[in-house]
Amino acid sequence: HARDTQALRVCYYHSAMHQTVSSRLDLLEELRHALARNQLSLHYQMQKSIAEDRIVGFEALLRWTHPRLGSISPAVFIPLAEENSLIQDIGAWVLRTACHTASQWREPYRISVNVSPEQFRYHDLLTLVQDVVLTTGLPPERLELELTESTIFVDKERALHTLRGLKALGISLAIDDYGTGYSSLDLIRSFGFDRIKMDKSFISHALQNTTDMAIIRSVIFLGRVLDIPVLAEGVETEDQLAFLENEGCHEVQGFLLSRPIPLEQLVSTGCVSLTASPA
Ligand code: C2E
Ligand code: MG
Ligand code: MG
Ligand code: MG
Repeated sequence: HARDTQALRVCYYHSAMHQTVSSRLDLLEELRHALARNQLSLHYQMQKSIAEDRIVGFEALLRWTHPRLGSISPAVFIPLAEENSLIQDIGAWVLRTACHTASQWREPYRISVNVSPEQFRYHDLLTLVQDVVLTTGLPPERLELELTESTIFVDKERALHTLRGLKALGISLAIDDYGTGYSSLDLIRSFGFDRIKMDKSFISHALQNTTDMAIIRSVIFLGRVLDIPVLAEGVETEDQLAFLENEGCHEVQGFLLSRPIPLEQLVSTGCVSLTASPA
């Protein structure tokens, strides 16, 4: 009897595994067509200066709405795209769309775009950014690229070269999810980052956990020493905001201020106004 149960379990295990593998393949197949089928879109989430109490920019966040599967999280499909070099086309589309959109805002807000390590590694990001800035007419100082530590650690020398080139174009660089990797002071300084985005995992426990509070304080202190503004992501409560303000954090982003929303909603809520009607 015990053996039967085990056999059954093994059988079940295999079928579950098979299902996982095949649904991953299905998803990948669907993702290959997502761009051409207009299933990808961008949402924009506001970033505010605490001291000035005003909007300073928006982060572009990719959304995939599949007609049958519904909305699929970027946490699921971005890694899939990265493994299959689809991220090149998708990443280029994101950059172009975000810059084009921001170029039509009356207000000169910053637009922040996430760049995946794979985009950085295999393609000439510099050429792409140069072309996008040129063709969209977005002033380069309004574009910020968000990179994570893993992006840079793959090949430090090459990364340094690319980042210097990007900075020479006049765009700015933010280090995303800061505190979750292995960044040293040296890295932030030598790579010329213009902003530190503190990871939301610290913010979400900030007021219950003294270690997270200490980490937040030290990141803000680090920013002050290096003269680099610090943005806290994932701010959800007034208490978190008050704490960050009290600690001298420069900028915030999170559900408390706004969820990521589509362009139409950005316009209808008066966050931005357009210079021309959207194409
Ligand atoms: P990220 O760049 O760190 O983006 C912040 C994530 O936190 C977003 O999740 C955003 O919706 C979420 N968020 C914002 N405020 C709050 C809050 O108050 N509470 C909580 N719990 N979450 C908040 P999202 O949109 O699901 O994106 C997840 C990740 O997927 C991003 O993390 C980024 O790493 C990646 N991603 C999204 N869009 C792109 C893209 O266009 N290109 C690349 N390469 N990666 C992207
Ligand atoms: Mg980001
Ligand atoms: Mg982040
Ligand atoms: Mg992240």
